Amino acid sequence: MIFHREFYLMKWIVIIFSLLMLCANEGDTHCSRPLSRIVRNQLKEHFHSVFLSKNQEPHSKCPLHSSNDLYSIQEEHKSQEYASKWVCNFCGKAFYNENYLDKHFDNKHSDMLVKGSSVCLADFCDIFRCQLFENRRSDHFWEKKLCNEDRLRVLRRRCEALIRSCLPQSNLSVEGELEIFEAIGANTCSLLNCKDFWKQTNEMMPTWKIVLFAVVTPFFFIALIIGEFAVDSRTSDDEEHWSSSAWDSGGNELRRRYGDRPLTY
Ligand SMILES: [Zn+2]
Repeated sequence: MIFHREFYLMKWIVIIFSLLMLCANEGDTHCSRPLSRIVRNQLKEHFHSVFLSKNQEPHSKCPLHSSNDLYSIQEEHKSQEYASKWVCNFCGKAFYNENYLDKHFDNKHSDMLVKGSSVCLADFCDIFRCQLFENRRSDHFWEKKLCNEDRLRVLRRRCEALIRSCLPQSNLSVEGELEIFEAIGANTCSLLNCKDFWKQTNEMMPTWKIVLFAVVTPFFFIALIIGEFAVDSRTSDDEEHWSSSAWDSGGNELRRRYGDRPLTY
C-alpha cells in the first residue's frame, strides 16, 4: 500500500516537472522567427534605408534599432550562398533553407541571442501588416468588410509615437527630423487605415506571379504587334482588290455603253 502511495507521488512529481519544463521551453521560444523576419525586412526597406539616406542612425533606445533585435547576432551570422544553401557562420554548417538554419540556431547557438534585450520584432506585426506578407492572398474580402477604422486610428498613433522615439539623437534640424518622420511614415503609419491597409505592393506579389507576368507580357505585346500587322496587310489587300474590281466593273460599264468604239473627246 505504501509502495502504491509513493508510486503515485512520484508520478505526480514527474507530471508537474514536465509541465514546468514545457512552460520554460515555451518561454524561450516566445518570439516568432518568421514574423520577426517579416518585420525585419520591412524595417530594412522602409526604415533603415531612410536613416541611411540621411546619413543618420536611429536613437539607440529605439526598439527598432538593429542592435536591440533579439535575433540580430544570429541574423548577422547567416549567409546565403545560393537559393538552396544557407550557411551558419558560427560553425560552417549548411542548410537547404532558412527555416532549418533557424532551427539550428535554436538548438545549437541559443546562447547567441542579444543579452538583456526584450525586443521581439514580431510584437510589431500589427504596425508592419505582417498578415499581408504572411498570407499572400489578393482578395482579403472579409478582412476588408470587417475592418475597424477606430482600431487602425489607435494603431496609427502608436506607430507615429514609435517612429518619433526613433528619431536621431544628433543635432538634426526640425526640418530634417520631419523629413525622416514623413519618409518612414509614408510606407508604414500612413497605411494604417481601412482604405490603404490592404494595399498590395510589388514586394508582396508572390514570386510565381512576377515570373508569369515577366514571361507573358513580351509575348502579349509581340502577339499584339503581329495582329496589328496582319490587319493592316489584309486591309491593304482588300483595298487593292476593291479598286481593281471597281476598275474592271467600271470598264465593263463603259464597254456596255459605248461598245468597242474608240473614245473621242
Ligand atoms: Zn552553427
